[in-house]
Amino acid sequence: MKNHELNSRRTFLRSLGMGASALSLPLLGHADNLSYQSEYERIQSLFTEPDGSNLFQPGKKLGIALVGLGYYSANLLAPALQQTQNCRLAGIVTGTPSKADEWMKKYNIPKENVYDYKTFDRIADNKDIDVVYVVLPNSMHEEYVVRAAQAGKHVICEKPMAITPKACQNMIDACKKANKQLAIGYRLHYEPFTQEVMRLGREKVFGAVKFVESSDGFRSGDPNQWRLKKSMAGGGPLMDVGIYAVQGARYVTGEEPISVTAQFGPKTDPVKFKDVEETMFWQFEFPSGAVSNSTTSYISGVERLYASCEKGWFELSPAFGYGPLKGRTSKGPIEMPVVNHQAAHMDGVCKDLLDGKKLPDHITGEEGLRDTRLLQAIYQAAETGKKINLKA
Ligand code: NAD
Repeated sequence: MKNHELNSRRTFLRSLGMGASALSLPLLGHADNLSYQSEYERIQSLFTEPDGSNLFQPGKKLGIALVGLGYYSANLLAPALQQTQNCRLAGIVTGTPSKADEWMKKYNIPKENVYDYKTFDRIADNKDIDVVYVVLPNSMHEEYVVRAAQAGKHVICEKPMAITPKACQNMIDACKKANKQLAIGYRLHYEPFTQEVMRLGREKVFGAVKFVESSDGFRSGDPNQWRLKKSMAGGGPLMDVGIYAVQGARYVTGEEPISVTAQFGPKTDPVKFKDVEETMFWQFEFPSGAVSNSTTSYISGVERLYASCEKGWFELSPAFGYGPLKGRTSKGPIEMPVVNHQAAHMDGVCKDLLDGKKLPDHITGEEGLRDTRLLQAIYQAAETGKKINLKA
């Protein structure tokens, strides 16, 4: 079946707010009437796959398989998947057998939904798994997103999408070729305080945004972690959390930067930071004339998004962590519901997948590619000491 046919069936059904079984009920009562019987069969055929399985079940949750059971999967994603409405934890991919045992017990995951990195591709045959969520070190995202798409699964990939724009493009191409959708782990795009500052900036509620301060950093621990190895992380704090500051400046202005200047901070611990930057600063100019100034660091905490506008200001602080976030404007506090970021993100993405809708641009691989290009330009600006022109 072609994807657009599938999508229109999905859209049609969900617009009715019911699945095939619900639709069949009133029709069954008239089974003796031939015209009703043939209509019943026609409608059923719309929802039945060649193997006899029924596509639409009311309340269906998409099955997610987490690839990589490190900190983020174990502490944030798996617990969030106990709260989600549109998806559930259906499978795991891990290279550590003891973790597999622990997760199977803890989350009631059947053995046939557990894979390691060698058996991963067999996930193609697993109907329980609709979406593969890649939560590996940054340099491994490309390989596992491509393999997941080739296995015929939708994919969510953690940020930063990849360590080079070329890798991002390969991931986008692989998903397109497989007719599957690719979302990036931009959890804040489904978070109400963040959505509110996006609105305040883009709708010019305090007039045009003139100046943005957008910074994210923390004190990193273990000196042997992959985050300090350029080959695995692609860089230091800029790749890891500086990306939130890049996003923040883009989403409150609603504009794409036209130039960047950047500077490396000092290395106060040159042994620990022999491979990647310790601290970094950068400045974007936007087409409207707005400018942003940002800091990222692995040496000390900073987490703030502030916008100075023609007729006032607004800010989030904390702005990028797991919450609760907190916001203020020149007119008073920002009051919004506090949500679980990871649950809201996965539910939001999976709702669109269930509805057969194209994911919104701001959550797709194209958005991940835009950010990866900007991260590269920031490094280039700091390395050359020159202003880098970002106009196409
Ligand atoms: P982590 O080091 O805690 O976990 C990484 C996992 O990858 C581990 O289970 C590890 O065993 C596995 N792995 C497989 N092959 C590996 C290899 N060759 N080297 C190292 N580890 C290997 O990392 P994490 O904090 O869970 O981060 C994973 C990804 O999630 C990163 O891309 C990170 O940027 C992203 N992340 C996103 C958020 C967010 O808020 N969206 C938060 C944290 C992490």
